[in-house]
Amino acid sequence: MPETIFSKIIDRTVPAKIVFEDDLCLAFHDISPQAPVHVLVIPKKPIESLAHASGDDAGLLGHLLSTASQIARDLGLAEGYRVVINTGSEGGQSVDHLHLHLLGGRSLSWPPG
Ligand code: AMP
Repeated sequence: MPETIFSKIIDRTVPAKIVFEDDLCLAFHDISPQAPVHVLVIPKKPIESLAHASGDDAGLLGHLLSTASQIARDLGLAEGYRVVINTGSEGGQSVDHLHLHLLGGRSLSWPPG
């Protein structure tokens, strides 16, 4: 997989406001926040998108979700939040490294655009 801005954040050649890290994933504030809380949770494993994840990645995908939930608790999103995975060009994905958007801190409308 080609290098992306997120792989550079993982290897610390690009700075980011990191909120959580473990062996499997990294979470940091989005540079262009769409809500008072907008955190990205990414796997350290370079997976291009959700569509590129395999059955072998099931545990990792679960870990990303439970990490997002833990970060939401840590950041006080007691009234709710949204987790989004934009996938592919029609899904609005702009960085080709799988990432979960954790959005909260305001009332979020539905449906998305
Ligand atoms: P997506 O459009 O779903 O692929 O989301 C990519 C997200 O990455 C966007 O919300 C961008 O604002 C965010 N982003 C891009 N570059 C950076 C960066 N250097 N640090 C933090 N977030 C970034």
